[in-house]
Amino acid sequence: MTAKLIDGNALARHIRSEVAQRVAALAEQGHRPGLAVILVGHNPASQVYVKHKVADCESVGMHSVLDRHPAELPEAELLARIRELNADPGIHGILVQLPLPAHIDANKVIETISPAKDVDGFHVASAGALMIGRAGFKACTPYGCMKMLESIGCDPRGKHAVVIGRSNIVGKPMAMLLLQANATVTVCHSATPDLAHHTRQADIVVAAVGKRNVLTADMVKPGAVVIDVGMNRNDEGKLCGDVDFDGVSKVAGWITPVPGGVGPMTRAMLLVNTIEAAELSTLAQG
Ligand code: NAP
Repeated sequence: MTAKLIDGNALARHIRSEVAQRVAALAEQGHRPGLAVILVGHNPASQVYVKHKVADCESVGMHSVLDRHPAELPEAELLARIRELNADPGIHGILVQLPLPAHIDANKVIETISPAKDVDGFHVASAGALMIGRAGFKACTPYGCMKMLESIGCDPRGKHAVVIGRSNIVGKPMAMLLLQANATVTVCHSATPDLAHHTRQADIVVAAVGKRNVLTADMVKPGAVVIDVGMNRNDEGKLCGDVDFDGVSKVAGWITPVPGGVGPMTRAMLLVNTIEAAELSTLAQG
């Protein structure tokens, strides 16, 4: 079997064009959605990510603010800046680019963002809402993975989904979204003794580990849907995922590439969350 490719770039383009239409509809009512992106320090990867996020906003007609701060920024000043943005009616989404310098408590920072503007979906209120099935912002990466499943007509209901990784930003919310969609979900992690035992039973595998070749062909059920969240570098320095793409694509039914899979979808879902935040705020204004 040769797996079909789930094209994250194409799906993200489609989602961006839908967001652009929603932005235009709000503009007709005199509102412009706004996203604030806060960057502390000079982490090179973070600089690239925030640049993309700002460019994405422009591409759909949203307003964006890139708030850059030196690595030495005191935590109290960062929290004060977030409170200022919480109160700014022109800003509907606030994102603090992680990782933060060691002297800043990331949890404290995330929890200072108003849940109404938590477009990354990392606030404890957003995570709690997801846990108990209430409305709230979904973390962008797992939200994008769910859209990818939807795009290929894969309904998780009744399927066995295995999520590898249990981070708060990918693995856990991914498991919750799959559970909400009526999959039977197994969550594996670094203390799982026999990973292959679980993945071989899976109709859907989501790999979110951050290590190359965590999932190889012998670990995959023929025809399974394989979503690769990982972002790693191979020996030649090229971007690759957690999945042995060449091997697994001979066994799986569907597979996401890296690059061009989950990455562009994460960015697209940030725009979806931001337009949603803006629409909700407009509704609340009456
Ligand atoms: P993380 O916080 O480091 O979590 C990694 C998870 O993998 C942990 O739960 C860890 O288990 C588990 N793990 C480690 N080794 C394992 C093994 N051998 N077998 C099974 N599980 C193992 O990472 P993350 O933030 O979730 O990100 C995961 C990957 O996705 C990274 O490569 C990251 O760069 C990428 N990512 C991509 C996007 C995107 O848009 N494409 C977005 C976010 C993240 P323990 O909990 O037991 O330590």
